[in-house]
Amino acid sequence: MKLGIVGGGQLGRMLGQAAIPLGIRCVFLEPGASPSAAVAGEVIRADYDDRAALDALAARCDAVTYEFENVPVDAARHLAAQVPLFPPPQALEKAQDRLVEKRFFQAQGLQTAAFAPVDDEASLADAVAQLGLPAILKTRRLGYDGKGQRRLSTEAEVPGAFAALGGVPCILEKVVPFEREVSVLAVRNGAGEVRTWPLVQNIHKDGILHYTLAPAPETGPATQALADDYARRVTDALDYVGVIAIELFQVGDSLLANEFAPRVHNSGHFSIEGALTSQFENHVRAGLGLPLGATDIPIPHGCANLLSTQPPLAKLLAVESARVHLYGKSERPGRKLGHVTVAGVTLAEVRDRLGRLLTLA
Ligand code: AMP
Repeated sequence: MKLGIVGGGQLGRMLGQAAIPLGIRCVFLEPGASPSAAVAGEVIRADYDDRAALDALAARCDAVTYEFENVPVDAARHLAAQVPLFPPPQALEKAQDRLVEKRFFQAQGLQTAAFAPVDDEASLADAVAQLGLPAILKTRRLGYDGKGQRRLSTEAEVPGAFAALGGVPCILEKVVPFEREVSVLAVRNGAGEVRTWPLVQNIHKDGILHYTLAPAPETGPATQALADDYARRVTDALDYVGVIAIELFQVGDSLLANEFAPRVHNSGHFSIEGALTSQFENHVRAGLGLPLGATDIPIPHGCANLLSTQPPLAKLLAVESARVHLYGKSERPGRKLGHVTVAGVTLAEVRDRLGRLLTLA
């Protein structure tokens, strides 16, 4: 079998690496030179919206997926007309616009932060009057890793905030006083079977994921059941196939949906070693109509991103139980260069090992 993947970054690389033992070959569509995923399959070097290249990808593959959510929806629809494309284009459409996404969550019965659309300075003033401060102004499109957003704490910060984000359509969200950030990863196949991994806790630094604890410590069964229910509602509504990640704010027993990624996700990298089946393998299995694998996490794990600079390999490996994944990328401020997963028999052991890792990463 052959799987096409639009995008050739580290997520494509790890999807390709999960496909290899199953005897499935991957073909990547990627415009950049020497992409991270090249070690895991062939590369068609072309722009993501190059029709001839999309046609060639569709012709060569049994199914096609993508590894980033800003795939042009037209390109996705063009592919979907020729070959099974997963997740479906309607998932991309919802995930690409924060306002559409939040309204979609609410329509499915998920709780979210209070929000209001902002299209100019006047509607920003109205939104602030309606929601109050502190609030966060975010561009509706193309924001990621904390980019394209401004926190508004005082009235003095309101004038000019819309212009500072480029005068593009925005959404204002009330700040949620969350206890922690968690995400639920789920996989759904074409027959409608849904499996979720246990909730994981995510700790961010400067808007970028810093590390993940898997499972999220002290999660009650009711909270897990609520997350499972959210994943079921969202994926059923989209007739979804593949892995999805829904980022959530936890406040007491409540979960507020912030955003979803229609793809494998950084908070699921631990699953390569930490879960009975990784997010990458289950994504491949779901898209190719293969049985889904078990999502249990037998012992606690922690997973830290290597950002900006590459610590010496020997130091990373000296941390007990460390499993190192380097993406083959050059150093650049804020860039994700790799990740390291540690395991422990107890959470305390994981925290200790993660602590040592974080002094390096
Ligand atoms: P996002 O780009 O929406 O994932 O936001 C990046 C980070 O900003 C999140 O991981 C949170 O730490 C924080 N954040 C975003 N929206 C809110 C909100 N409504 N209330 C509190 N914190 C938020």
